[in-house]
Amino acid sequence: PLAGASEALLPRYVRVNPLKTSTDDVIDYFKRQGYTYLGQASSVQELGHLSGKQFLTDCHVPELLVFSPRTDFHQDFLYRSGHIILQDKASSLPAFLLDPPLGSHVIDACAAPGNKTSHLAAILKNTGKIFAFDLDTKRLATMSTLLLRAGVTCHEMANQDFLQVEPRDPKYMSVTHILLDPSCSGSGIVDRLNQLTDDEKSSCEERLLALAAFQRKMLGHALSFPAVQCVVYSTCSLHQQENEDVVQDALERNGTFRLVSVLPSWTQRGLDTFSDAACCLRASPAETLTNGFFVALLQRKREGEDCRE
Ligand code: SAM
Repeated sequence: PLAGASEALLPRYVRVNPLKTSTDDVIDYFKRQGYTYLGQASSVQELGHLSGKQFLTDCHVPELLVFSPRTDFHQDFLYRSGHIILQDKASSLPAFLLDPPLGSHVIDACAAPGNKTSHLAAILKNTGKIFAFDLDTKRLATMSTLLLRAGVTCHEMANQDFLQVEPRDPKYMSVTHILLDPSCSGSGIVDRLNQLTDDEKSSCEERLLALAAFQRKMLGHALSFPAVQCVVYSTCSLHQQENEDVVQDALERNGTFRLVSVLPSWTQRGLDTFSDAACCLRASPAETLTNGFFVALLQRKREGEDCRE
């Protein structure tokens, strides 16, 4: 097992950007660069056995190619031209699971630096509309560059607090899908915990409480958009307070949404802290060969659907 492993030991994940190219063309490109394509992986274990210049298609997310640890494409032409996006597998799950239909109006509530926005635009094939919000101007500037490079044209970016976005504004009346990836403790990012000083560790508990309160408000706000059907909530935190507890709180406060059980073949599920928590996904270096992560998909119940169905 990879428990406690450094990031250098995780496979390298490459997301193909269909706004610029196709998976077949990217596979051919890497073959011409001397890489050996081994086809589609059938299990996570297979991803852990890659060595040298071998690569695979991921077993869960079809637009992801997987390379051996330490492969670095930051200087590669395909990365610099936006044909591929370098993104951990876990962080490609939220947009993949939200899967908005072509033409949808989507909110990316905490969007910068835009990796998930570009993934949403790829799924939408640049149709419909993505309203992308973030509070941080520097990160929004980075996001502009990223989206331009990725050929994203269906977005509208705003330097705005998502909590101040008015759900009843006619502009958002057709928003059916929301991706909520709010600030979190980042405790799932491999190596980060090992780098904390004792002082930082002792202020953690206080910070965690503040973050959890913020995340609860954000998820409650997302569920209040009148036409919203599906909301994905994700963090790169390992803490139950930022994950299962936030989702449980939202479901208790808003009886019109339920959890959807996503990716049945994904072995690591939400902590068993409330009924249906197993519908959520968790990710970790040891079990899923990714950074630590949490994802939940909430869906509006159909009319007449029982709360506990
Ligand atoms: N989704 C992004 C991606 O995939 O590239 C990463 C988002 S990061 C985990 C969280 C972001 O939330 C930060 O950029 C932060 O500035 C932003 N943020 C924090 N509070 C916010 C708020 N109230 N409204 C909008 N954005 C906020």
